[in-house]
Amino acid sequence: SKAKLFDQNTEVKTSFKDVAGLEGAKEEVQEIVDFLKFPEKYTTLGGKIPKGALLVGPPGTGKTLLAKAVAGEAKVPFFSLSGSDFVEMFVGVGASRVRDLFKQAKEKSPSIIFIDEIDAIGRARGKNAMSGSNDERENTLNQLLTEMDGFGTNTNVIVLAATNRADILDKALMRAGRFDRQIFVDLPDVRERKEIFEVHLRPLKKAKDLDIDFLSKQTPGFSGADIANVCNEAALIAARNGKKEVDKQDFLDAVDRIIGGLEKKNKIIT
Ligand code: ATP
Repeated sequence: SKAKLFDQNTEVKTSFKDVAGLEGAKEEVQEIVDFLKFPEKYTTLGGKIPKGALLVGPPGTGKTLLAKAVAGEAKVPFFSLSGSDFVEMFVGVGASRVRDLFKQAKEKSPSIIFIDEIDAIGRARGKNAMSGSNDERENTLNQLLTEMDGFGTNTNVIVLAATNRADILDKALMRAGRFDRQIFVDLPDVRERKEIFEVHLRPLKKAKDLDIDFLSKQTPGFSGADIANVCNEAALIAARNGKKEVDKQDFLDAVDRIIGGLEKKNKIIT
């Protein structure tokens, strides 16, 4: 088939301005931006620039967004693939895809490689008794480890990987010189939800009765992705009702709808 091997974006527009909240995580990845922009500043005293960092946190909290923002801020190309693409892959395809990915990223260095859902390839080995495809998953994981170990000190490719299950990852991935840093990306608190609302309200035509403090308080447990969803839903609801602006009621309806969806997804009964 002609399925694409991985995504490549050489002109990333995402910046830290697009990432609301996550102050601690942003501070940590700022250092990675600095490594990519001024590697000599760090290697001059004999230090080794880290090869990889793991972004750990629940779904929809902005891990992909943050990784993209690192590339955007450092003005380097962004290569990405998702671990879930490797499930049920033919023998040899996963490993060769990883090899190609690293080859391209090295050619375009300095660069960022982002692996979403790394748990799909990086689950601890030998824990899953399934046949066939499991071997291929191990081949893919081994290739990833080989590639990271093969980086020279001045390759200047940094690999970011995201997971919401750091606990099930093969410990070999976390060894020194691989993903030896973990950056936590948690669900937003009320103050952070407000900041995320501000980002996603920017493009909307807002009515005067909109109260962001109120909305932030009405959405405990919502991720950044859920909030982005609420803002978009509210705009669609308002439009459907022929309104000229998105008002408070549209937001309340959108929040209800998203909560309904979340309940179905998590089978929570309230
Ligand atoms: P997953 O684990 O499901 O892949 P993720 O943590 O990678 O999720 P993203 O894909 O980065 O989450 O988030 C999805 C979308 O939600 C983003 O494109 C953005 O619109 C919005 N979003 C999430 N977190 C934030 C945030 N902190 N600030 C602004 N927008 C956010």
